[in-house]
Amino acid sequence: KLKIGVLALQGAFSEHVNLLKRIQDEVSDAVLIKTQSELEDPSLDALILPGGESTSMALVAERSGLMEPLRKWVKGGRPVWGTCAGMILLSNAANKTKIGGQSLIGGLDVTVQRNAFGTQLDSFVEDLSGPLFGPTPFQAVFIRAPIIDTIDSDAVEVLVTVDHGGKQVPVAVRQGSILATAFHPELTHDDRVHRYFLDMARKTINKV
Ligand code: GLN
Repeated sequence: KLKIGVLALQGAFSEHVNLLKRIQDEVSDAVLIKTQSELEDPSLDALILPGGESTSMALVAERSGLMEPLRKWVKGGRPVWGTCAGMILLSNAANKTKIGGQSLIGGLDVTVQRNAFGTQLDSFVEDLSGPLFGPTPFQAVFIRAPIIDTIDSDAVEVLVTVDHGGKQVPVAVRQGSILATAFHPELTHDDRVHRYFLDMARKTINKV
């Protein structure tokens, strides 16, 4: 069984913890991570970066001295999953049209655009299908979600796409030990994406 940390600086971290605690066959413990020493606990197997507001999350992470330890976690090939704001933080670049920009953890070879699904689509629910979900579609909640503008390396595997203005855009991608989703599986009662991550984490750890 796995011990999962959820970054708890800002955003929807308790929802992740609640869902993880219900997956008792796979999860031994789900703990909040607020400090460097909590992140560096050797018994921690995998990490989730929740949704919320990526600029605030990054600011708090910087103030708490967590930005470098987080980068070290990702670079070290330890399992990590970012949902929505968490996906933005894991990306190598955000909002390429803006000057300057926010500080990111990076590691995922994509460029994202924040809040990019358009004003009338600030929040929406969409039935997703694909190999990740099998025959039953997954009801995905999108809240001011980012769009993956470009995939910048062959190492990035697209797991799920959604139709956006007639174009299929990726909303779940994986690159080795990194998983990122533009939507919020922690806001539903469907644990399939969490289980996918746990499986991916277990395999990653066994390989190391
Ligand atoms: N719009 C937020 C951001 O840019 C992300 C929204 C979310 O996590 N639900 O960080």
